[in-house]
Amino acid sequence: MNIVLMGCPGAGKGTQSVKLQQEFNLHHISTGDVLRAEIASGSVLGKQIAAIIDKGNLVPDEMIISMLENIIKSTTKGIVFDGFPRTVKQAEALDAMMRRLDRSITQVVMIDLPEKEVVTRICSRRQCKQCGEILHVDLSVPLSKCPACGGELYARPDDTPERARHRLDVYHQDTLPVKKYYQTGGKYVEVNGNQTPEKVFEDIQKSLK
Ligand code: AMP
Repeated sequence: MNIVLMGCPGAGKGTQSVKLQQEFNLHHISTGDVLRAEIASGSVLGKQIAAIIDKGNLVPDEMIISMLENIIKSTTKGIVFDGFPRTVKQAEALDAMMRRLDRSITQVVMIDLPEKEVVTRICSRRQCKQCGEILHVDLSVPLSKCPACGGELYARPDDTPERARHRLDVYHQDTLPVKKYYQTGGKYVEVNGNQTPEKVFEDIQKSLK
């Protein structure tokens, strides 16, 4: 089973990918995490990537595509793709890569979220430095520790209202055409993302063929 999880910024792709990974023993590929790891390494490439991500723009297709092929090759497990493809060029490249490796995308799941929810959701998002848990906090109540493990919580630098709105514009322009690309292939389903994470996951499981 190779699943592409789509959705606008803040739709819950990261949370649902981890659930899919655990439930079906999949390999989780988050291109955002791959890029953040490169930034954390302090490399020259990482510095270039940080400048792009911090503005809320997409890194160039060629860069992300070349990073992906080796990661896909490194596993024989089924894969959940989180945050990739984000452009039609990436979707075409993914199909070609999977064909070369004698694999294919089994299903594309779009987590649908009303746009008025997006900026609020993104700005309330925090991630635990220790266990990686993603949660949404009540901004009126100070919360600095992860309720699951007590680790330190942080907000991503690109999770500000201004950048969230820009990322939404980029999503409209570059990523929504990917939805059309997949809609014609008979593997595309949509689930309502404006529910609890547990209910969204239940709907995703029901949608899997
Ligand atoms: P994410 O963690 O998926 O929200 O991604 C964070 C940021 O990483 C995005 O706003 C982009 O700047 C960059 N990024 C992640 N995945 C891709 C991709 N497939 N193509 C281009 N840029 C990406």
